[in-house]
Amino acid sequence: LTTADLIEEHRICVCVRKRPLNKKSELSMKDLDVITIPSKDVVMVHEPKQKVDLTRYLENQTFRFDYAFDDSTTNEMVYRFTARPLVETIFERGMATCFAYGQTGSGKTHTMGGDFSGKKQDCSKGIYALAARDVFLMLKKPSYKKLDLQVYAAFFEIYSGKVFDLLNRKAKLRVLEDGKQQVQVVGLQEKEVKCTEDVLKLIEVGNSCRTSGQTSANAHSSRSHAVFQIILRRKGKMHGKFSLIDLAGNERGADTSSADRQTRLEGAEINKSLLALKECIRALGRNKPHTPFRASKLTQVLRDSFIGENSHTCMIATIAPGMTSCETTLNTLRYANRSLGL
Ligand code: ADP
Ligand code: MG
Repeated sequence: LTTADLIEEHRICVCVRKRPLNKKSELSMKDLDVITIPSKDVVMVHEPKQKVDLTRYLENQTFRFDYAFDDSTTNEMVYRFTARPLVETIFERGMATCFAYGQTGSGKTHTMGGDFSGKKQDCSKGIYALAARDVFLMLKKPSYKKLDLQVYAAFFEIYSGKVFDLLNRKAKLRVLEDGKQQVQVVGLQEKEVKCTEDVLKLIEVGNSCRTSGQTSANAHSSRSHAVFQIILRRKGKMHGKFSLIDLAGNERGADTSSADRQTRLEGAEINKSLLALKECIRALGRNKPHTPFRASKLTQVLRDSFIGENSHTCMIATIAPGMTSCETTLNTLRYANRSLGL
């Protein structure tokens, strides 16, 4: 199968990525790995259960996706089968989106943004950067070179239904819909980029803006959606756009019973946007004319990516391997399955 075939056949691609048990917390707490990936498109969850008479048994559940990546898979490999084909889409005047969906700590930012575990940030291995690298490679091809395309990048965050510009000191932005149902994020900074290095710098700026002042595990970044966009323009007009999205953690269910009103509201907003997203992706897969994009700010700002002849979406559902995460992991796998329309 060539990349072109992949694009032709799939308007949506849904895959799962399992991360390794992490050294600090999970291995030291002797958490068990309950996930196996027996083949390249199957995920099995082995949930330990107890009968009434206290007999222990494993409940095995199987899920099938376009791709399943085990814990030895590199970002580069994940990228090759997910976002890579979508880079071609934007050169062919299309709209592309790639989401990382999963619970906090399951590897969304590692996949999209890069490695931030060490002291020094390395965003060069994340899907944002890998996609940018290939955009600049594609620009050199004679057939695209003659189009004289310009490349721009934008980076914003959606928190509690509000949009903040990560390339402009978290300036709060308004979202407007005109009479032709075009959605516009007013004043969003689009920076022209000439090479991968330029993009890496912007990713660093945006990331540090996103995480500044955070302390707890319940930090702001796990409760917000980050949207990184690569925009191709020709003579000022949009030619194609790639939106790469590090979604808020999907474990918010518990928040609905929180004592803190703000926490409850945020949790409800996140649930709402993730549900709306699933519906929009399903509609795209079925070529349905009516996409319920107005149901949340996230889907509203992505409206132009969910409609149109040449819109393609990829979802990477990230999962933690541990038994302690089993319940949320099952929720993630079910959500990803529904997005596929199953
Ligand atoms: P999330 O953004 O979903 O909250 P992170 O990307 O921050 O999760 O990942 C949580 C931790 O697990 C980080 O320390 C990260 O470096 C590590 N991690 C995530 N995915 C992987 C992976 N595939 N391989 C190795 N380490 C990973
Ligand atoms: Mg994260």
